Amino acid sequence: MYRLTRKRRETFSTALALIAAACLTVFVAAVTARFSERLFLDEIRTRADASLAVQAATLERQLDKFRLLPPFLAQRPDVRDLISEGSRTDGERVASVVAAMSGAQEVVFLDMSGRTIASSTWPSQGPHSAGLNMFDTAFQEAMEGRLGRQLLPGDALRAGSYVFASAVRSGGQMVGAVAVRVDLASVEQAWALSKDPLLALDDSGIVVVTNRPSWRGRMVVEAPGGVQNPAVAGMPPSPMHLHARLRSGFEIVRLDDGAARLEALRLTKPLTVLGWQVSTLANTQIATSQTSKAWIIAALVCLLLTGAGWAALEKRKATVRKMRDDRAAALRLERRVRERTQDLSQANKLLAREVEEREAAEAELRLAQAELVQAAKLATLGRMSAALSHEFNQPLAAIRSNAENAQLLLERKMEDKAAGNLEKIIAMVERMAEISRTLKGFTRRAGTELKPVRLVTVIDEALMLLSPRIKRSDVEIVVDKGDTDPVVLGGRVRLEQVVLNLISNALDAVGGEAGAKVGISLKVEAGFALIEVADNGPGVSEELRSQVFDPFFTTKDVGEGLGLGLSIAYKIVHDFSGSLNVTASQDGGALFTVRLPLERESRAAAE
Ligand code: ADP
Repeated sequence: MYRLTRKRRETFSTALALIAAACLTVFVAAVTARFSERLFLDEIRTRADASLAVQAATLERQLDKFRLLPPFLAQRPDVRDLISEGSRTDGERVASVVAAMSGAQEVVFLDMSGRTIASSTWPSQGPHSAGLNMFDTAFQEAMEGRLGRQLLPGDALRAGSYVFASAVRSGGQMVGAVAVRVDLASVEQAWALSKDPLLALDDSGIVVVTNRPSWRGRMVVEAPGGVQNPAVAGMPPSPMHLHARLRSGFEIVRLDDGAARLEALRLTKPLTVLGWQVSTLANTQIATSQTSKAWIIAALVCLLLTGAGWAALEKRKATVRKMRDDRAAALRLERRVRERTQDLSQANKLLAREVEEREAAEAELRLAQAELVQAAKLATLGRMSAALSHEFNQPLAAIRSNAENAQLLLERKMEDKAAGNLEKIIAMVERMAEISRTLKGFTRRAGTELKPVRLVTVIDEALMLLSPRIKRSDVEIVVDKGDTDPVVLGGRVRLEQVVLNLISNALDAVGGEAGAKVGISLKVEAGFALIEVADNGPGVSEELRSQVFDPFFTTKDVGEGLGLGLSIAYKIVHDFSGSLNVTASQDGGALFTVRLPLERESRAAAE
């Protein structure tokens, strides 16, 4: 819902921005177009103004040149005379000379009634129209004592001409007039060089001089709103409609000459002496095309800028969106991390609880173990008590009966026999002392009297002590002391006791069987000295292997074994930082291994 609204809002703002950009483009383009139009029109006007000044001056000069010729001729006595006399022949001669010399189109001498006496054109053009002249207006003005002027309008085929006339006086009396006709074709020829239309209008709006021959003699009617020129007398020349308007401070006119339409910038210069107006119609085509080009360029630039702005805006929007997304992602991540942390702390709590439970279970286990150990100790104590009481009770009973016997025998004076009984008593006491000595092995403190001991010596001593028993039995003893001479830290006698015990157990195990064999070997292995005592007896079953080292564990008959030998040996070896264990021998019997760390020096030697 929110997204939809946001999207709609975005679309709306995009549309608004597009409209604004379009408006701005149009506005900027319009302003640029208007400005450039002014600029170009201004340039055109400057150029046209200069051209107009030159062309107007050309016309003015042409007319000025002939303006004073009639008054000048009127002053000449020969002219005065020939007019007074009405001499045609002389008149034609003089007129021809003056016309040829001045460049006038025609020089005419007139009598008082306005009839032509002589003209410079008669010889070539034949007799003039029965002496009537076309300069009546100029003639009238001359007769009034002024400089007579008259325009003889041209038409599409012929350029117009202008007439100046002046009265001729003889003896204070007007006798006639002299008229000079100026051809305007030469001005038009000069104007023809200009590519823009040029036209001189007289006070009635008739085109007098122009570089467009088809316009010659036609009337320019300003319409609508323009001042309607009064129709000239007689047949009105076909009108050309001109519509003028102001654009950017320039007068732009549209002229319809019937054949074509023309739109141009009009510049006008009045010729005050003649009462005419010279205008140029400068082509604004270039201004129009340049303006439209400026319009297009401005619009394009605007579009480009708008596009660039749009792109920048989009980029910024994208950046903002990305930042927003990044922030959202970061927040999401943070939330996840928080959740994970919560989970973790939850798990931690569970773990802590589990640890507590385990600790409690361990404590319980330890308690149970302690109880078990206690029970085992009690059981061991029980076994020990039974064995000890048996071991001690038997000799005690024997000592008692032997002592009683010895007492009776001594009463009967049978000392020899009594001595036998006393010997038995001594043997019993010896045995009890032996048991007691054995028990003392447990009480000896560990770690004292540690000296370097050569194990070869230990084995030799043990074998020597056992040699009477070995000799008695048929057991084959195989000794392999190797070529090393390992030395360990310990007590020699106690180590002898260990080896002796292991060999005597092996001898017990093989019994008197045929092929009985006991092997003793000594070797060095990884910083340890190993004494192995193997036999081919029944061996120690796996179930018993953990029990044989317990004190008072024995499988031997009562009176034969105390069950202390292995447990004492185990204790001694451990006191010297070694270990004692039992496995099966190669022959299926038992293999007891004593492992003792080598003394530092012999270890160094071994390495
Ligand atoms: P004892 O020899 O007085 O019985 P020990 O502690 O020396 O006491 O031996 C414990 C028991 O270990 C023996 O009773 C015997 O069952 C077993 N045992 C010891 N050595 C061997 C062996 N070499 N072969 C088989 N059993 C053995």
